Amino acid sequence: MINKHRKPRKIVVITGGAGFIGSHLCDFLIARNYKVICLDNLITGNKENIKHLLKFSHFMFRKVDITKHFEIKGKVDFVLHFASPASPITYLAHPIQTLKVGALGTHNCLGLAKAKKARFLLASTSEIYGDPKEHPQKESYWGNVNTIGPRAVYDEAKRFAEAITMAYYNNHNINTKIVRIFNTYGSRMRIDDGRAVPNFIIQALRNKPLTIQGTGKQTRSFCFITDLIEGIFKLMNSQMNEPVNLGNPIELSIKDLANMIIKLANSKSKITYLSLPQDDPQRRRPDITKAKRCLNWQPRVKLESGLKITISWFKSFYYK
Ligand code: UDP
Repeated sequence: MINKHRKPRKIVVITGGAGFIGSHLCDFLIARNYKVICLDNLITGNKENIKHLLKFSHFMFRKVDITKHFEIKGKVDFVLHFASPASPITYLAHPIQTLKVGALGTHNCLGLAKAKKARFLLASTSEIYGDPKEHPQKESYWGNVNTIGPRAVYDEAKRFAEAITMAYYNNHNINTKIVRIFNTYGSRMRIDDGRAVPNFIIQALRNKPLTIQGTGKQTRSFCFITDLIEGIFKLMNSQMNEPVNLGNPIELSIKDLANMIIKLANSKSKITYLSLPQDDPQRRRPDITKAKRCLNWQPRVKLESGLKITISWFKSFYYK
């Protein structure tokens, strides 16, 4: 619950704070009385996502491009680095920005954490496993990434981000954490984000054909946003410094996802098949043994329940 009268305690800088995951993290931390400094250059983030927080004195928004040097005045306890285009469509629309925010942006954020003696948390991704040859993916798996493929601008930026984070941990004694985020869904995903969940929901609500790329037999494992945020919160307050997978281990095919969304949205939509984008991973499922053991975390929201909530949000947001 939001308590406006208690004195704010820890000070958190969140980059990408106006994005899908970043804004949910802002909500969560503001509700727990953290002081939040939200940074975003609004390339893919949206001020609408955080406008309800602007009334709080312990919330601050700054439009900043973190790929360039930036400064924050005063004490900082945590730097949570979530800035990056994150869906195939958005990182392909901003390939250089994606590489820069993963490389230069991460470097600047680590510099900030070092100067402030703050904890640092990097939002990494299951994409660092590429099109995995090990299944499910454990944190010990090194991945299978095409360094010059279309997804490389995101995958390699995040791989670099992990490497420089570990270098700061090992050489500068910064208390760093790395979360490898698997497919996550929920309110505030962009309508033009191009990912399966928002695409299918919008198509189903409009009774238009759902666009399956490839055969639809490729799999993903979808985690609801509130589960992910709880895991991130546990990680940032944990002793863990090695990468941790956070995601829902329940795997399903994209075709099953499409049919489930048609049913839950009471839609008349059919399915249409498009070609599969290059290097699209065939299977993806997190092994979350480490998160269970070290963070006592596992997802609680069933896909059907999370999708119902997400469908209602898209309905009210786009059809009000
Ligand atoms: N996908 C699809 N139709 C769409 C959007 C995505 O079939 O309209 C497929 C995509 O090819 C991939 C899976 O759904 O196999 C998940 O894609 P998404 O972009 O959501 O995330 P990814 O896990 O690939 O980053």
